[in-house]
Amino acid sequence: MELKTKGKAASVTEPMVVRVTRNPEKIDSHTALLADDYLPGNLENFRAVLSSLDLTGFPISQPHVHGIKSTSHLAEGDIVAINTDGVINTLYRVNSHHNFLLATERCNSNCLMCSQPPRDREDVYYLHMLHRQLIPLIPKDCKELGITGGEPTLMGNLFFELLEQLKTELPETDLHCLTNGRAFAWNNLADKLGKMQLDRLMLGIPLYSDYYREHDYIVQAKDAFHQTIQGLYHLAANKQRIEIRIILQKQSIPRLVKLAKFIYKNLPFVEHVAFMGLEHQGYTPRNMDQLWIDPVYYMEELGEAVEFLSHKQLNVSIYNSQLCLLPRELWPYSRKSISDWKNIYVDECKSCSVFDQCGGLFVSGEKVHSEFLKAI
Ligand code: SF4
Repeated sequence: MELKTKGKAASVTEPMVVRVTRNPEKIDSHTALLADDYLPGNLENFRAVLSSLDLTGFPISQPHVHGIKSTSHLAEGDIVAINTDGVINTLYRVNSHHNFLLATERCNSNCLMCSQPPRDREDVYYLHMLHRQLIPLIPKDCKELGITGGEPTLMGNLFFELLEQLKTELPETDLHCLTNGRAFAWNNLADKLGKMQLDRLMLGIPLYSDYYREHDYIVQAKDAFHQTIQGLYHLAANKQRIEIRIILQKQSIPRLVKLAKFIYKNLPFVEHVAFMGLEHQGYTPRNMDQLWIDPVYYMEELGEAVEFLSHKQLNVSIYNSQLCLLPRELWPYSRKSISDWKNIYVDECKSCSVFDQCGGLFVSGEKVHSEFLKAI
C-alpha cells in the first residue's frame, strides 16, 4: 500500500498537514483540494492544492504540488503532510484502524529483529511539529491510535506534550504506545506519566527472556533487561496499563516457557501478553541464521507458554501467526493483528476454508514463510 508520493512543489514554504478532499465545494482552511481532472475556480480558500496535472504557469497563489504520479491511494478525508520538496506522506487514513504516529526513528536499543531499524538523525522536532498539526484534524471517533518509533520516550518532554494533546483532542481514542520501557527505570518519568491519568493508554513493552544476558543480547543493549524490569515496576506502581510483547524467534524459544512463568510470578499486573510471529523486515533478513525458525517447530513451547499464562488468568494473544500452523487448541488466542497496509495472503490461502478467520502474513512473508502453510 502506498503511503508516500511526490510531485513538484510550488509556494510550499514549510511542511503543512492537511485533510484531502476531491470535492471543490468542501472549502476549509485545513483542507487540500485533490484536483486531478480539472482545476475549479474557487481555490483561494483551500490551504493547498494537489494535482497530477502539470500546473506550470497556472496563476495559483496557494501552496501546491503538481505533476504527482498518482493520488489514487488517497481517500476522502485522509490526512497528509506536504513537504517543501514535494513529498506527500500519508499520516492518517480514515478507512483504517491501523493508524499510528511515528514519534522518532531514534532508539536506545538495536534489536536483532527490529523491523524498522533506528536512524540516528534529529527528527523529533520535525515529527512533533507534524503531529501538533495532525492531531486536531483526526476524527474524534477514531477508535485506536498507535504511537511508535524508534523509541518514543526519546522525545523527552515532547513525549508528554504529545500525550497531553492526544488526551485533550481525542479523549475517546484508545492509545497504544510501543516502547522498550527502559526510560521508566527513572521513576520521575513513570510518576509523570501516572499523574497524567491516561486511562486509555496501553504501553506495549517487549521482554524477550527471563535471563538478563539473553534479553540484552537480543536487544543489543547492556543493562536493558534490568532497566525494562525496573521500568515495569515503576509503571505498575503508577497504575499504568501494560502489555508484554514477545517476538517468537530462535533466540527466545528455548526459554519461552520459563519466560511465561517469570511473567506470572514477577509481573502479574500486566494486562495482556502478546506472543508475536517474526516479521521479515528491517534487520531480520540480515540476521536470519540467528532468528529464523519455522513456526511449526516452536508450537510445543508456544502452546505450553500460552496455556500456562491463560490458566493463571492472564490475558494472552498470539499475533502474526497463520491458523494452518497453529494447533486447534491455540486458535482461540490467535488475532488478526497485521496492519492492513502490510497484510497479505499467499496463493495457498485462496482455497482455504478459514481464510476469513486467519490473519494471513506480512508482505515480507511472501518471500520467507513456513514450509508448512497449507489451505484448510
Ligand atoms: S492457508 Fe492461508 S488463509 Fe489458510 S490458514 Fe494458512 S495462512 Fe491462513
